[in-house]
Amino acid sequence: MAEPKTVTIPAAIDLHIHFREPGTNKAETIASGSKAALQGGYALVCDMPNNPGNPTWTMERLTQKQAIIKKTSHMPIATYAGSQPESDNLAELALMAPHSIGLKLYGAATTGNARDYQPDEFDAIVKTWHKAAPNKPIMLHSGKDNLWEFIELIANRHSHQLHVCHINSPTDAELVMKAREKGAKVTCGVCPHHILKSEKDEVTEGWFARMQPALVDEASAAELFRLFAEGQIDVLETDHAPHLAADKWAAEQENPEGIHDPDHRTCFGVPGVEFALPLLFYQMKRGRISLERIIDATSKSPAEIIGIKLSSTTKVTWRLEEYRIGDKYPKGLSSSGWTPYMNNLAVGAVEKSFIGGKILIENGKFKARLPQVANSGSVI
Ligand SMILES: [Zn+2]
Repeated sequence: MAEPKTVTIPAAIDLHIHFREPGTNKAETIASGSKAALQGGYALVCDMPNNPGNPTWTMERLTQKQAIIKKTSHMPIATYAGSQPESDNLAELALMAPHSIGLKLYGAATTGNARDYQPDEFDAIVKTWHKAAPNKPIMLHSGKDNLWEFIELIANRHSHQLHVCHINSPTDAELVMKAREKGAKVTCGVCPHHILKSEKDEVTEGWFARMQPALVDEASAAELFRLFAEGQIDVLETDHAPHLAADKWAAEQENPEGIHDPDHRTCFGVPGVEFALPLLFYQMKRGRISLERIIDATSKSPAEIIGIKLSSTTKVTWRLEEYRIGDKYPKGLSSSGWTPYMNNLAVGAVEKSFIGGKILIENGKFKARLPQVANSGSVI
């Protein structure tokens, strides 16, 4: 067989990961997650604030998280501030703003929140953030039926830049497009699992295929893929949210129906940052998406959304070999020890990673670390 070709492209940026540290979920650490992201072709990942047991709602906690990044990360990481109606942290929000890449709001029940919210409950939070960080985006996890009201609140009433995370319905994608046509500053992202898996997988994988927002039917997944490949959904964000297989098993044994209420054990989320690009390259091989669009969705557009400048030398060389993920990586690459893409075909392994003037991976092997906290305006 001929040697696989290589391609060198701008390094990727993931606007949405959960590396779990500090906190009570021990599936991943900043060290292990950043190593997996580096192997996934990323130069920067942005860590969400809802760490179980330790949400990033205060300056003290933000400083604590950033100290771990500076000590243990393999690559640059940016961090979001968090605020919920019950966190009562408006003063802390203003303190965190200069050190955060954006603000994350949860408008629905997920890991760390037990209930759905009314957008108006966030009015004071949005107002405070807009004053403290007028040019730093608000990232939104919207509920099933409240996206339009959140767009009204954030993008229209407060004229603030809004990014709608992990779109999982074509209808929500249309709402974003409609708001954009009317001049609102709104972007959106989709996760690999929402375009490559479907709710049918819950039938055979149970809790190993459960996340928030949930997987969708096959027709919706195909439509989301089309909107993404055409660029109407702006970015790919992985929502890398690892749990140990043992915790997924415990939810499966205690709550096989997947009931989501405080009386039942839940365990939402899957790892994904390590294989997002190889999964897309396989779709490129199938003719479903272009290389140009992959670069735009994983590097150019995310950089614009958070105001990061990628140096023209920050690039990743991929060896375009094809493999079945479980054959090449029997335990995945996240320290959670598994991946929902075990039997999937993929193309590409990182041969060389040149980030921020440093070779971090060479000949497929780790060479150096770049443990930096990135912020708006950073050049990487
Ligand atoms: Zn998330």
